[in-house]
Amino acid sequence: GSGKEGDYEELYKVVIIGDSGVGKSNLLSRYSRDEFHVKSKATIGVEFQTQAVDVGDDSGRHVQVQIWDTAGQERFRAVTSAYYRGALGALIVYDVTRKLTFENTARWLEELRMHSNTTIVIMLVGNKSDLEEAREVSIGEGSTYAEAKGLIFMETSALNANNVSCAFEMVVREIHNQIT
Ligand code: GDP
Ligand code: MG
Repeated sequence: GSGKEGDYEELYKVVIIGDSGVGKSNLLSRYSRDEFHVKSKATIGVEFQTQAVDVGDDSGRHVQVQIWDTAGQERFRAVTSAYYRGALGALIVYDVTRKLTFENTARWLEELRMHSNTTIVIMLVGNKSDLEEAREVSIGEGSTYAEAKGLIFMETSALNANNVSCAFEMVVREIHNQIT
């Protein structure tokens, strides 16, 4: 920061996990650059994006959030412990049109718990909410499961941007609330 009054030097690491094709990279590109890509570029993804986020407590303060994308390793179940190291927040993403990706969030949660601090803020994210006609997982199923596991829950669409900023900001604010 510039060192002026009110500046924050805090950096929160947030990781995005979930099965291949659920929209992780597009959630990040939508949030950080307001971009959406119809064809996914599995291996070209950047490691992480850093962004300033308003902490939302009326102080006007910002924190830097460093959001990590798997860039394709999840295909080979090769997400390393370095990926999780130091994460204060996580988004576990599934695709509302593919039930299996929802069922697999249990594995992702297990892997996350194995590699992270117990205080990590976790949000379960049902992405592709724009594809209502192809839906295989209801909002109710998602929210009930999240509640049972003690996770925050949100449905998003990287395509039409619905709830995308909201999801990342909620995680950041929750981390901030825990820390302060
Ligand atoms: P990743 O493998 O989890 O990183 O998934 P990608 O971000 O690469 O997205 C996989 C595919 O799903 C791509 O063809 C995207 O265009 C598409 N996609 C991602 N998010 C959405 C969404 O919210 N709605 C729709 N309809 N398609 C999406
Ligand atoms: Mg990706």
